[in-house]
Amino acid sequence: MVQARAGMVRGLTQLNEDEELFQASVREFAKDRITPLVREMDESQRFDGSLLKQLFELGLMGIEIAEEHGGAGGTFFEAILAVEAISAVDPSVGVLVDVQNTLCINALNRWATPEQKKQWLPRLAKDTVGAYALSEAGSGSDAFALQTRATRHGQDYILNGQKLWITNAKEAGLFIVFATLDPALGYKGITAFVVEKGTPGFALGKKEDKLGIRASSTCELVFTDCMVPAANVLGEPGKGYKIAIETLNEGRIGIGAQMLGLAQGAWQHAAKWAKERKQFGKALVEFQAMQFQLAEMVTEIELARLSVYNAARLKDNGSEFLKEAAMCKYVTSQVAEKTASLAVEILGGSGFVKDYPVEKLYRDAKIGKIYEGTSFMQLATIAKLTLGVK
Ligand SMILES: Cc1cc2nc3c(=O)[nH]c(=O)nc-3n(C[C@H](O)[C@H](O)[C@H](O)COP(=O)(O)OP(=O)(O)OC[C@H]3O[C@@H](n4cnc5c(N)ncnc54)[C@H](O)[C@@H]3O)c2cc1C
Repeated sequence: MVQARAGMVRGLTQLNEDEELFQASVREFAKDRITPLVREMDESQRFDGSLLKQLFELGLMGIEIAEEHGGAGGTFFEAILAVEAISAVDPSVGVLVDVQNTLCINALNRWATPEQKKQWLPRLAKDTVGAYALSEAGSGSDAFALQTRATRHGQDYILNGQKLWITNAKEAGLFIVFATLDPALGYKGITAFVVEKGTPGFALGKKEDKLGIRASSTCELVFTDCMVPAANVLGEPGKGYKIAIETLNEGRIGIGAQMLGLAQGAWQHAAKWAKERKQFGKALVEFQAMQFQLAEMVTEIELARLSVYNAARLKDNGSEFLKEAAMCKYVTSQVAEKTASLAVEILGGSGFVKDYPVEKLYRDAKIGKIYEGTSFMQLATIAKLTLGVK
């Protein structure tokens, strides 16, 4: 291996030894353990319980949790590498790992008190899935128009309302739930609570039947006079908007990683097919038109990777990353959709049927432009930060 000279700036895609080992182990796990389950999980719309157990055993559900709380003590960048490697095989598994690490654990690491950390982080590292509940039927892009109400009652708060589209809801034991103390206060009323599964007055509602990422559960949450201890407020009452914004700013780098992995997976299937499939007496890859398509696709994937790795490394070293995170989500979701679509075409008829993995990746790609801020919302952020407009 060529050694970098001391003080030299490394290439963004150059990994250090720990990152390389980590990436190799996640890739191997995804190939050996996830691949055989992908089709069944997609068709049954169920996440495999034994797979969930293995994700915990490997430390992939607590990457950034400190070792003193039973986690892997890793970096945000490692969480990004894990989501990328897993999503190359199954973006449904990728989003489960992503929400756990880049939203739930991230929010607790930043805003939980030492007591709260002791209470919840060891569980998230060991066997408890987290979910992040902001969206409602009437508040998606306009997230702070949420209506779920929290009313103080002695040492508790009483929650009433409904959340929609909540990823991991079926598997989760802990939910970070955003509610308002008073809708008249606008965003200044929004407060974040940690709500445990099984709390009286808290129930799962409808489970969505989706176009893609079908093994990932997406459910409605229903709160009916649900009593939550005031000790479960995350951060301060009325400061939930800050938690929501800042966690999602980071979380969208995770969605960038999911879309990057998806694109890489689709490209690999297409390249393999082009080498094996023969028409007109030669392998497809011998035709220059095919070479150029695959070359263009892999170039766009590399550009997407640079944007994801740059945003993640900026976040890890404490630099500003807001614009780069929005750009990386915007661009990777485009690259994923285009790459998966071309992969379907490169496989021809075989690309259109469920016996081959690319039709699923094509369906899975669509979500990248919708959740954790639609593409228009990313453009709005990029416009604000580059043009100075409101
Ligand atoms: C599979 C799935 C999983 C999800 N997981 C979670 C989760 O775990 N937790 C959670 O809280 N939420 C989750 N969501 C919700 C997701 O974040 C929202 O769906 C998303 O933010 C968009 O909100 P919306 O669906 O209400 O669409 P809307 O906000 O109604 O947007 C509809 C369209 O209008 C456009 N639009 C909106 N406002 C403007 C504007 N000002 N200018 C121009 N165009 C605009 C949008 O870009 C979009 O194209 C999930 C959604 C899905 C589908």
